[in-house]
Amino acid sequence: MAPRVQLEKAAWRWVESVSPEDIQREHIEIAYRICLPACKRGACRRNCKGNPNCLVGIGEHAWLGEIDENTFHNIDDPNSERRDKNTFVGLTNLGATCYVNTFLQVWFHNLELRRTLYLCQNARAEEHNMDSDYEPRSICEHLQYLFALLQNSNRRYIDPSGLVKALGLDTGQQQDAQEFSKLFLSLLEDTLSKQKNPNLQNVIQQQFCGQMSYVTVCNQCGRASPLPSRFYELELNIQGHKNLTECVTEFLKEEKLDGDNRYFCESCQSKQNAARRIKLHSLPRVLNLQLMRFVFDRQTGHKKKLNTFISFPEQLDMGPFLEEKVQFTIVTRNTFE
Ligand SMILES: [Zn+2]
Ligand SMILES: [Zn+2]
Repeated sequence: MAPRVQLEKAAWRWVESVSPEDIQREHIEIAYRICLPACKRGACRRNCKGNPNCLVGIGEHAWLGEIDENTFHNIDDPNSERRDKNTFVGLTNLGATCYVNTFLQVWFHNLELRRTLYLCQNARAEEHNMDSDYEPRSICEHLQYLFALLQNSNRRYIDPSGLVKALGLDTGQQQDAQEFSKLFLSLLEDTLSKQKNPNLQNVIQQQFCGQMSYVTVCNQCGRASPLPSRFYELELNIQGHKNLTECVTEFLKEEKLDGDNRYFCESCQSKQNAARRIKLHSLPRVLNLQLMRFVFDRQTGHKKKLNTFISFPEQLDMGPFLEEKVQFTIVTRNTFE
């Protein structure tokens, strides 16, 4: 029996046992269902005829505009989107943007960077009142906004569309994660360098930038010529390796320059066989070790992904890899696969 017919029957059932002269106010109220409790959400479609107190689905058009009935009636329990205590807020994958989310989470969890972002001047946010929703515009504003939501939202996850759109990223296409991290950090570095507060200007360098040099030694005269350089990540070849230490060791291995690669030596004033290696002088507070999982496949002419398992210790002692032997222990964290 349909719920409406059931209600109808229940409303008039008293008729069978009450004679006309005994009809009271309560009988009328039952008949016209005056005292029925309001329908629970989901119990009926909307404003049902069976219950005059039914408020289901009344008036939401005024607030939300036209609504697709099907999606409206499939709303999940809002509590399922509420984050549990002491858990982090996640970021929605917009298609193929997991690499963006990964970096955003890493940067968010860098407290120094987060604090710096919060301290960046934002006149638009300061002047903003509660009459309208605040809409971030610049990349810096978007990042501030996103970090604030990651920190304070009650939701289990939030949508990073605003920032991703502002960056002009194609959400359907997986981009080079390394390239993204480089471009984004240089953009942040540029933004922060323009801040009036001098404590904010160099945070990206302080957090992520290390110093190294390429040292080339001429085989003929033995002259060593160092070329100082800065790095924001070390790009490690993983082919043929099983763990991080092996990868770093290869990265710092001496490379022979001979044949077509011979080196022009300033002292000898001619091309000579030489040896080149990278020397690490100082490490940043956050060392970004990139495992080069995409390699060029000669046979197919395409990039292919290496799914090689690379193990890493919880603590990586970088001391042996540094030129000046100082204690430098890195707490490793796997950020991407
Ligand atoms: Zn109802
Ligand atoms: Zn030489």
